[in-house]
Amino acid sequence: MDFELPEPQRAFQESVRRFAEAHLAKGALARAHDPHFPWDVAKLMADQGLFGLMLAEADGGAGGTLLDAVLAIEAIAMVCPRSADVFQAGNFGAFRTLAEYATPEQKARCFGPLLRGEAIAAVAMTEPDAGSALTDLASRCTPDGEGFRLNGGKLFTSNTEDAAIFLVYCRFGPGTDGIGSVIVERGMQGFRLGQPSRYMNGEDWCALYFDDVFIPPGNVLLKEGGFRRQIAGFNVERTGNAARARALGEYCFAAAREHAATRRQFGRKLMEFQGLQWKFSEMRVALDAAQLLLYRAAVRADRGLPDAQDVAIAKYACNQAGWLAANEAMQVMGGTGYSQDLLIEYCVRKTRGWMIAGGSLEMMKNRIAEGVFGRAFSQRPGK
Ligand SMILES: Cc1cc2nc3c(=O)[nH]c(=O)nc-3n(C[C@H](O)[C@H](O)[C@H](O)COP(=O)(O)OP(=O)(O)OC[C@H]3O[C@@H](n4cnc5c(N)ncnc54)[C@H](O)[C@@H]3O)c2cc1C
Repeated sequence: MDFELPEPQRAFQESVRRFAEAHLAKGALARAHDPHFPWDVAKLMADQGLFGLMLAEADGGAGGTLLDAVLAIEAIAMVCPRSADVFQAGNFGAFRTLAEYATPEQKARCFGPLLRGEAIAAVAMTEPDAGSALTDLASRCTPDGEGFRLNGGKLFTSNTEDAAIFLVYCRFGPGTDGIGSVIVERGMQGFRLGQPSRYMNGEDWCALYFDDVFIPPGNVLLKEGGFRRQIAGFNVERTGNAARARALGEYCFAAAREHAATRRQFGRKLMEFQGLQWKFSEMRVALDAAQLLLYRAAVRADRGLPDAQDVAIAKYACNQAGWLAANEAMQVMGGTGYSQDLLIEYCVRKTRGWMIAGGSLEMMKNRIAEGVFGRAFSQRPGK
């Protein structure tokens, strides 16, 4: 076992860090306070070849590993936290699920604009009565000629206002086995967005409404029976969620360390106070442990999809570590940390959201317990 990165990956990580320092450091604060998607960053990343890192070369990607993508998103997040969301959209999430399951025709249609940084794809799963209990989703596809008619709606879809493509989880029949997914494109007849609402992290989302939207056969990604494969793809999204959460904690840790090493109170540097030293010790342990679990999930996946148990453990650890470090960094930095002149308070708000998004901490613990005992635990009341 070797805890050092191989030279090519270390060099790649360093090149992404240099790119981020050169192009993303300036403007990082303004980007964090802008509710809209930073398209200028998407263009820069596309030109740098940072989209489609895990996409097969035959499909226009770089054919890299999940660890490559994790190293890159960490390097970006530690320079410009908001830009890491752009990298996420061009590599993880709906992008990666499409890479895994889309037909050659769907790939040819979707990946051009996504790889050029001209469009993004969103994942639409959550519904009013199907949050953690995702398999209760009610959005439904019914056959119509060669295709289907989609009816229903979604909540909380990230990047709603900017996405061109929506990967919509929907039902073709009853039960978990009846769930699949379709590609809904902006502008399709019967598809509309509700009024924007704002998350605590400053980003907007809109409800999605599907009113008899015609889904041609070419827009079906996975039919009934596809749910487990979809969630297998979604584990990559969770890995990106985990990587960003931990990296934002690392960003705050570095800022707080610098602050504690220079700021003086009572005639001493803050780092002289043991009460603050111990915060740094706890942050360091949590961040390092989470990173090891994250890298384990990524390394084991290599070019495939990560193991669900590995990801649940990594996401849980990274979400907790990211939040702990951001929150404690804010405490160490006092009013300076709480102020919007720095990115610490933004990182607190962002890391808090990831404890809910992409499968809450509680749902991750439910999944981990299933792995521990080697059996499923139904969350539903007994019949
Ligand atoms: C920042 C952010 C971005 C998001 N982006 C997207 C997106 O792009 N696409 C999308 O589809 N959705 C998105 N979501 C929605 C997200 O997936 C859901 O909020 C999440 O799955 C939880 O569902 P819920 O909000 O309905 O909460 P509920 O499911 O109602 O849960 C409420 C609380 O109860 C707990 N709970 C529920 N069931 C159990 C159980 N069995 N055991 C223990 N505890 C339980 C939960 O952990 C939570 O703490 C996003 C959410 C956030 C915050």
